[in-house]
Amino acid sequence: IRKAAMTNPSRVPTGINPNVPNAARMYDYYLGGKDNFAADREAAEKIMALGPSREICLANRRFLGRAIRHIAHEGIKQFIDLGTGLPNQNNVHEVARTVHPDARVVYVDYDPVVIVHARALLAGTDNNITIVHADVREPATILDSPETTRLIDFREPVGVVFLGVLHYLTDADDPWSVVAAFRERMAPGSGLIVSHLTDDAHPEVGVAAREVYDEADAPLVHRSHDQVSRMFDGFRVLEPGVAHVAEWRPDEAWEKELAGSEWWYVGVGHKP
Ligand code: SAM
Repeated sequence: IRKAAMTNPSRVPTGINPNVPNAARMYDYYLGGKDNFAADREAAEKIMALGPSREICLANRRFLGRAIRHIAHEGIKQFIDLGTGLPNQNNVHEVARTVHPDARVVYVDYDPVVIVHARALLAGTDNNITIVHADVREPATILDSPETTRLIDFREPVGVVFLGVLHYLTDADDPWSVVAAFRERMAPGSGLIVSHLTDDAHPEVGVAAREVYDEADAPLVHRSHDQVSRMFDGFRVLEPGVAHVAEWRPDEAWEKELAGSEWWYVGVGHKP
C-alpha cells in the first residue's frame, strides 16, 4: 500500500477502500464522528498521540463558523466550499443561512465517500445546494461545471472556501495557482477563506504526522506563514491577517483556549 501511495504523485481516493486510511474519514474520527473504518481509526490514533487533534479540528470548524458569518454579513450570499469533508453539523449552508436564508452553496470534494454522504445529508430536495464530484487541482472543471454555474453568478461576490484542504496538495500540485484560478473568476467584493495546517511551532512532530499520512490516500503538506500568506495574493487580508486559528476574531473565550491553535494558519481575504 505504501509503495503504491508513495509513487503516485497525485493520489485520488477511488471508491471505498476500508483498508487504506482516508483523510476525510480520519478527520471524521478526530471530530468524534462514526463514518470511519478500523484503518482510519488506527492512523488517526497515531496522529492523536502526537497532539490535541480533536481540539485542532474543532478549532477549524469554529473558524468556519466565524469566517462564513463574517463574509455573509458583508453581503455574500453564494459560496463554493472546496474539500467539504464528512462533517454533519455547522456546514457552510447552515452557517450562511443564519444570515441569508436563501444562501446558495456548491460543495466540492474528490472523495466518492464524501459525495455519497454529502448527497444524503446536504442536498436532499434543496435546489440551492449542490454537490460537485471534482478535484480541487482542476479548478476549471469546478468553475465551468453546469452545477456550479447553475448556482453561482460570478458577476456577484462569491465566498470561496478552502478549509483544511490545501495542505493535501503538494507543491507540485501548486495550490497557489489553484487559488489564483478561482480569484480570476471572483467578482470584486468576493471573499476568500483559507485554513491550512503548519508545523512551524512543532517541526519534529510535523515529520511524524506526515509519515502517518504517507500511508493514507492523501499526503499532508505543512506550510509556513509566508507560504500560506502567498495564497492571498491579489486579496486584501482582513485583520488580524494570516493568524493562528484562535487569534482570528474569537467569539467566545473558550475558543481562545482550545489547544493546538498554533497548528493552523487561517485568514480571510477580500477581493478589491
Ligand atoms: N472543509 C472541511 C473542514 O475544514 O472542516 C473538511 C476538511 S477534511 C480535513 C479535507 C477534505 O478535503 C476531505 O473531504 C478530502 O476528501 C478533501 N480533499 C482533499 N484533497 C482534495 C482534492 N484534491 N480535491 C477535492 N477534495 C479534496
